Amino acid sequence: MEVKELSKTDLSSNPVIGQMMLNNHEQVVFCNDNLTGLKAIIAIHNTVLGPSLGGTRMWNYKNETEALNDVLRLSRGMTYKSSVAGLNLGGGKAVIIGDASKIKSEALLRRFGKFVNSLGGKYITAEDVAMSSRDMEIINMETDYVSGLPENMGGSGDPSPVTAYGVYVSMKASARETWGSDSLSGKKVLVQGIGHVGEVLVSHLTKDGAKVYINDINENKIKEVANKYKAEFIAADKMFDLDMDIYAPCALGATVNDETLSRLKCKIICGAANNQLADETIQGVEVGKKGILYAPDFVVNAGGIINVYYELEGYNRERALGHAEKIYDTTFNLFQMAKKDGIPTYLAANKLGEQRIEAIAKINAVM
Ligand code: NAD
Repeated sequence: MEVKELSKTDLSSNPVIGQMMLNNHEQVVFCNDNLTGLKAIIAIHNTVLGPSLGGTRMWNYKNETEALNDVLRLSRGMTYKSSVAGLNLGGGKAVIIGDASKIKSEALLRRFGKFVNSLGGKYITAEDVAMSSRDMEIINMETDYVSGLPENMGGSGDPSPVTAYGVYVSMKASARETWGSDSLSGKKVLVQGIGHVGEVLVSHLTKDGAKVYINDINENKIKEVANKYKAEFIAADKMFDLDMDIYAPCALGATVNDETLSRLKCKIICGAANNQLADETIQGVEVGKKGILYAPDFVVNAGGIINVYYELEGYNRERALGHAEKIYDTTFNLFQMAKKDGIPTYLAANKLGEQRIEAIAKINAVM
């Protein structure tokens, strides 16, 4: 995908289109409504494969620059995620600027829905941070370009079981690459974050006979999951020193950083959280040097977007799970590509995403 190098001076005098040029973003829409207090940015990174799809995040950004940077970064990430997952979707994302607990209202969400609708389907929205399925129902009053609706509205409901299944098959592919067999029986796995995705992952691992360790900040959840699956709780200050085979980050991003990486003794990192590497250009390389196989997060956790994609096609959970199963082959193939090209796995994943977009762009050009 064509990118441009711009100097700091170029960027300070061209802070919007200049930023878009860095990663070749197609379109950015700024939305304002004084009546409802809505301030939002919709970023469409790439629509070669199909309409851009990505959630709407509500966040109290310090300023517009921070919001713009976030929406540009996140929308680009969606392009890669959908491309590698083999979906006919492009990458997009929206951010609403402000504290959700203070400014979110029906009127603000409906006004946002009208902006989404004005794009005529070029951007399809979904849930993200500080947005609920009820909020999606409200946005849906103004536009059909919404996905991830509750099942009782004909939507696909909670995507987490499909995401967890994708993480599980990815972990098996990583085990095959590391130990020559994809069996997880007897492997020591730490699942950090046992929420919607983490708990279902624990259930798959337990069925396979893995030794599961869990960590979370929610004490009730820890008790419940530990009892239900006979998983062992490990405290936060000890977990990165644990003698384990696989680390599965399923809570938040940036947990693989210089500090944790100096302590981690696992052979595989494979989990659901987005942006697991604090800086992919640093830890993405360091993991390899430490003999750890990193399964790139956006490949591993694509089950969520796969689930939403099948909602657009008339939802069927079996088809969504069947597609998520393909994450096994995608993960294994990208490890082979990384080895063949002598590049870190995170780079191989980006390359895989770009290759598909470039190939389809060529056939789109044929009349
Ligand atoms: P969730 O909110 O249901 O669960 C997150 C869990 O992490 C909660 O139990 C929470 O208590 C715990 N947690 C929060 N901070 C923690 C900390 N510092 N240490 C340990 N535990 C902590 O979220 P989820 O839907 O299960 O998603 C998990 C991760 O996967 C998120 O990063 C999410 O962005 C990503 N993801 C989820 C999906 C999906 O389908 N739900 C899809 C793609 C990516």
